[in-house]
Amino acid sequence: MKDKHLVIVESPTKAKTISKILGSEYEVVSSMGHLIDLPQKELGVDIEKDFTPSYVTIPGRQKILTALKKDAKEKDKIFVATDPDREGEAIGWQIKENIFKKKKVQRVVFHEITPAAIKEAFKHARDFDENMVEAQAGRRILDRIVGYFLSPLLWKKIVRGLSAGRVQSVALKIIVEREKQIQAFLPQEYWEIEAELQKSAKPASPFLAKLEKIAEKKAEIKNKEDADRIVNDLQEKKFVISDITQKEKNRYPDAPFITSTLQQESFNKLRYNATKTMIIAQQLYEGIDIGEENPVGLITYMRTDSPRVAPEAIKEVRGHISKKYGKKYLPETPNVYKVKKLAQEAHEAIRPTAVEHAPESLEKFLSPEQYKLYELIYNRFVASQMTPARFLTTTVDILADKYLFSASGSTMIFEGFTAVYEKNAEEKEKNKIPELEKNEVLNLLKLDPSQHFTKPPPRYSDSSLVKALEEEGIGRPSTYAPIIQTLILRDYIRRIKGYFNPTELGFKVCDLLVEYFPKIMDLKFTAQMEEELDEIEEGKFDRVKVLKEFYQPFKESVDFAQANIKKEVVTTNEICDKCGKPMIIKWGRRGKFLSCSDFPTCKNSKSITSGVKCPEPNCGGELIERRSKRGFFYGCSNFPKCRFTSKDLPGEKKAEKSLENEE
Ligand SMILES: [Zn+2]
Ligand SMILES: [Zn+2]
Repeated sequence: MKDKHLVIVESPTKAKTISKILGSEYEVVSSMGHLIDLPQKELGVDIEKDFTPSYVTIPGRQKILTALKKDAKEKDKIFVATDPDREGEAIGWQIKENIFKKKKVQRVVFHEITPAAIKEAFKHARDFDENMVEAQAGRRILDRIVGYFLSPLLWKKIVRGLSAGRVQSVALKIIVEREKQIQAFLPQEYWEIEAELQKSAKPASPFLAKLEKIAEKKAEIKNKEDADRIVNDLQEKKFVISDITQKEKNRYPDAPFITSTLQQESFNKLRYNATKTMIIAQQLYEGIDIGEENPVGLITYMRTDSPRVAPEAIKEVRGHISKKYGKKYLPETPNVYKVKKLAQEAHEAIRPTAVEHAPESLEKFLSPEQYKLYELIYNRFVASQMTPARFLTTTVDILADKYLFSASGSTMIFEGFTAVYEKNAEEKEKNKIPELEKNEVLNLLKLDPSQHFTKPPPRYSDSSLVKALEEEGIGRPSTYAPIIQTLILRDYIRRIKGYFNPTELGFKVCDLLVEYFPKIMDLKFTAQMEEELDEIEEGKFDRVKVLKEFYQPFKESVDFAQANIKKEVVTTNEICDKCGKPMIIKWGRRGKFLSCSDFPTCKNSKSITSGVKCPEPNCGGELIERRSKRGFFYGCSNFPKCRFTSKDLPGEKKAEKSLENEE
């Protein structure tokens, strides 16, 4: 039978999965993402006319557009089944507005790509949600305005070709500020004293206790002399138990994943960065051939901020828990997780689309990376509907004259959800406390003083940065991974062994923006903008109003910066070997270099090398830091004669391969 209807989605894999589900009456085609957007080389927004955007066909996309038009001819109905969020709504709406002005085009929305969900969704085809489209347009226009005006200022001060975005710049500030804290940090010495104690009666099991207080004040031991004095003083003392408290504690499972928590856990447990996590999650969502008749989406949509779970899925997982683990593992009523204030209600948590698809049963159909991520999502979801783990925690206070030691330990009484999912590995039992009684006298086996230093706050990782962004209200499920990716590609930050280090360029860009655009770089202001943009979607705010309020003060800052920013000159001790004048540091498109201060009279320039020799045989060049559109790399000083490039300096450890896998 001939195709009667046309269905448009944004990706070829998704098209393939859906096509098999819908059968021969539907032709399913892919738009390959956005077809229409603001122009690349101009502002494309008429500020005087209520910020009206002028959209154009993205270069190179005209062919797809023409093909879509042709496909649509003689079709009864046209459906847009792009992803269920603002972005998807906007892609679809653009297609409808620009290609099928006269045809009726309907929107179909589903959160999982399974036969049941797709068929149900087609029964509820609807018109486009204009508020959602407006919200997306507002975001796009605002980001365009910020990028369009900020970038030339960076060119003026540093070098042409740099760019700055609204939300990425604030994220950069978070990373740069942390680096400044680390640089300014002075480690303080302190000492701890641990006692290894033992019951004098049988069984004589030893355990550890830590010195907490001296004469009822917190023990603060600053140096070795003090520590030694205390240890000496303690040698002859009697260690007597002064108090024992025992408590039963419940440890509850976490909510099923939303985008931010998936990115965090995936980094913590699998060491996948945010971008990699999202790429794999998308594969699982769009459909995998698992040997049944049709490929099927294994997880629900991966861009979401709601932990809500559909009632049918709850019913299914409760059945599974009770059958596989038994009644003790099943709470009387389903666990409910709190939805954030502005979370999109219609969204769902990231969960398996069918509990019967146990990870083990799919292993042979998945790549090792897909398998690990699916297993993580699956187990977290099952655990989220299970009973808490129960622990018995014991705290023992021990007095040795004026010295108070404390020991604590916990024993698991019931494993609950931890049968399926461990939060973090180190939460396992460590200090096992024996049966003790008040006033019992203990044997002192050993006193162990140890030296420590206070530590600076840690650099951000994919996990902690996403967490910080979410807590600050900056970024949304669809933007966390792109924010990080953009900062890396611009070489404002580098991911080194999994942690973000701002580059010199990143510092410069950040400092300039903070100086001239304190508001844009203010976390609270950015969070508020994000909320207002969200509220456009709920019809509470008008797009034009949000943009107008933003633009006026912003334009004033831009004008001020334009008048006051000057090219930066950084002097060095190097002398020009052609004319003897001092050399200065300049930034070029491809990185920084030394230039004669008498430029353009003297055109002498020199690369700043890493001091590491090029590994190419007979080359003799040195490696230089370079930047390109695809981010940072090392190139040879003999370029273009030698074309050696590398992501790291030869000899540098490549252990974090999976983290550096940017593309
Ligand atoms: Zn010179
Ligand atoms: Zn070379």
